[in-house]
Amino acid sequence: MSTDTVRAAIVTGAARGIGAATAKRLAAEGFAVAVLDLDETACKAVVSEIEAAGGAALGVGADVADESSVESAVDRVADELGAPLVLVNNAGVIRDNMLFKMSANDWDTVMNVHLRGSFLMSRAAQKYMTQAKWGRIVNLSSTSALGNRGQANYSAAKAGLQGFTKTLALELGKFGITANAIAPGFIETEMTQATAERMGVPFEQFRDAVVKGIAVGRSGRPEDIANAVAFLAGDGAGFISGQTLYVSGGPAV
Ligand code: NAP
Repeated sequence: MSTDTVRAAIVTGAARGIGAATAKRLAAEGFAVAVLDLDETACKAVVSEIEAAGGAALGVGADVADESSVESAVDRVADELGAPLVLVNNAGVIRDNMLFKMSANDWDTVMNVHLRGSFLMSRAAQKYMTQAKWGRIVNLSSTSALGNRGQANYSAAKAGLQGFTKTLALELGKFGITANAIAPGFIETEMTQATAERMGVPFEQFRDAVVKGIAVGRSGRPEDIANAVAFLAGDGAGFISGQTLYVSGGPAV
């Protein structure tokens, strides 16, 4: 497709954290961005920031785990913003607990948001991408995919997303669509603040202890992930597909 056409992008879980930084970064790259999150009013601040910077954005309230909510949200983006040709499956939740204390409900919630959500969003968006013969899907995995105490549900979902990504790459490649995963390490957001709270440790103390094991000697920021997404969403990354990029400040996790 022509490079002067404005492409629409959807970022899920974009009201805050990594999703918000990614939505703003993709807007700065020239994408019209759907800022999708559970609560539409919570998306307003990010939409306003993008618009104030001269970009185009639309706030969309949807639950990524709900089939009809996803279908209507993706079609609404196509109607109001343009065909979604970039999808960032970023929405996430944690329900951490040791295996013997983990409820089936906590297992299901995490699977539903990360795995079912990414499946439903990708299935809904791919019809626009295949039509355009161009598309980019970026799934948010995690270093926890390699195993993390207290996260049997989350690590299984994040490892599952890596397999999902490879299969999307195989099925959709012939339509000019790439699918890749980004696996962040420790990023300072409300999610990591919640982890510190659950462990009963002040956030700064928790972060400083984690940073001791990070090669570059600092914690991650949402913008570190947004930069990687912007690269994978661009035309220059068209020969990279089915990969998982660890963005964790070093080889260790
Ligand atoms: P966050 O600050 O908790 O933000 C997640 C966002 O997703 C929230 O706005 C949340 O909305 C939204 N969300 C949750 N369930 C949803 C659903 N069913 N439908 C639509 N939106 C939903 O998380 P983050 O730290 O930015 O993480 C973003 C992604 O990166 C997640 O997939 C996470 O697993 C992954 N990740 C994060 C880290 C890290 O260190 N922070 C590391 C590795 C991977 P509500 O506020 O309404 O719940």
